[in-house]
Amino acid sequence: MSRNVFLNYIGGEWKASATGEVLESYNPANKTEVVGSVQKSARGDLDEAVSHAKSAQKAWRKLAGAERGNYLYQAAALLEENLEEIATTMTKEMGKSLPEAKGETTRGIQILKYYAGEGMRSDGDVIPSTDASALMFSKRVPIGVVGVITPWNFPVAIPIWKMAPALIYGNTVVLKPATEGAVTAAKVMECFEKAGFPAGVVNFVSGSGSVIGQGLAENSDVNAVTFTGSNNVGKNIGKIVAARGGKYQLEMGGKNPIIIAEDADIEAAVDATLSGGLKSTGQKCTCSSRVIVQSSIYDQFKQRLIEKAQEITVGDGMDAATWMGPCASEGQYNTVKHYIAKGKEEGASLALGGNVLTEGNLKDGYYIEPTIFDDVTTDMTIAQEEIFGPVLALMKVDTVEEAIELANDVDFGLSASIFTKNIDHILSFIDDIEAGLVRINSETAGVELQAPFGGMKASSSYSREQGQAAKEFFTTMKTVFLKG
Ligand code: NDP
Repeated sequence: MSRNVFLNYIGGEWKASATGEVLESYNPANKTEVVGSVQKSARGDLDEAVSHAKSAQKAWRKLAGAERGNYLYQAAALLEENLEEIATTMTKEMGKSLPEAKGETTRGIQILKYYAGEGMRSDGDVIPSTDASALMFSKRVPIGVVGVITPWNFPVAIPIWKMAPALIYGNTVVLKPATEGAVTAAKVMECFEKAGFPAGVVNFVSGSGSVIGQGLAENSDVNAVTFTGSNNVGKNIGKIVAARGGKYQLEMGGKNPIIIAEDADIEAAVDATLSGGLKSTGQKCTCSSRVIVQSSIYDQFKQRLIEKAQEITVGDGMDAATWMGPCASEGQYNTVKHYIAKGKEEGASLALGGNVLTEGNLKDGYYIEPTIFDDVTTDMTIAQEEIFGPVLALMKVDTVEEAIELANDVDFGLSASIFTKNIDHILSFIDDIEAGLVRINSETAGVELQAPFGGMKASSSYSREQGQAAKEFFTTMKTVFLKG
């Protein structure tokens, strides 16, 4: 098989799927370039991986946390050694600019190191018993086999921020990556393989969501499923896992607002709107999508936003001059075009962009101009549904109170931001905004690995990822009562 055909990693071995079929991954900046292929696996491949993960779990959980941590440190070192190659693959596979891809890979390394250290930290509490002669304590223990289902938009960071805590707390893992990011994820898996984890502790099975993702949800030997992706898929996984008594965690879409109050630093707010809204071509779950501006500064803000958006260079993520790459796939490109058409049809006016880009070097990619809609009202589809593309919706309000109400008027609740210097506005924003990530004078996108991450409402199943919060999902607890 050619170097660019990636196999499944099951029970410590790279294996072709029983189907003999592969799924090809194309470069969205150059539609005809195949970046690589992964296995189009069948349920049998998955069941084999789950069975290896189940067999490996007891010995893995019996290792000292520090020993498990050493494997994570080793994976971090290997990721660091291969950073350039992994980031380049990511840019070619899903289009984000190379500096962003390098930033994401670096984040993966930091997450591995953070959780490696976790193996040396407390895993329980001593609780005073009413019996003076007894010792009572709680002890965190792993859940067992964890199924990890990830999206294409962060093909390195998201698999790692799920697998690293799962592993350090003593679980074994089966990863099913998004098909459109699976080549990049396979390269991450090569680092895990070389790190020398015992056979069966980490497994990788690529294939379609409806076969392998659904299979993970249905397999009763998978004790917990952690999922990041779209709302409909997530809700369905939650139902299936809950019905068989498993544990699940869902991190889903957003429709994130950024509020610009009349006392805001306009330049800083414009920069944050563009960076939070259009970096990664608007394909972050925490991207700003609705820009809610107080009427007294609306025109001034809009004009500056348009001026600066016009300076954005769109192109191949591999090109050093590129600020914004293509949409990640043909499907995503068509979705964004659909929403732009919908915005026009429902009466929003285009203040900037709205077209596909096909000139010169852009002719072979899925490029869309940075797009800004004006006069958007909350009943419009583009104000309610996640677009996941380079599209901003400007909305006008008279007061900050009204802005917060409007910001909450969606099903989602992932991230939200406000630009203001007024402490009363800041305090009511923190109190009243319905979002898991609350950001003041900062863009909506951006999370720190040591802090809890997750949304409210339809954005999440309310459990939290990352930092110490990950412990809640990836462990359960024993309460021990010990008497001599
Ligand atoms: P999808 O929901 O389409 O896919 C996510 C994962 O689920 C993929 O691995 C996919 O496989 C798999 N899948 C698809 N169908 C099924 C199924 N029936 N059963 C089980 N698994 C299935 O999301 P996208 O990959 O398109 O990612 C974009 C979405 O992710 C956006 O909505 C975004 O907001 C959200 N997201 C949320 C984040 C958060 O932390 N809240 C962070 C990043 C993204 P396959 O690729 O093979 O279809």
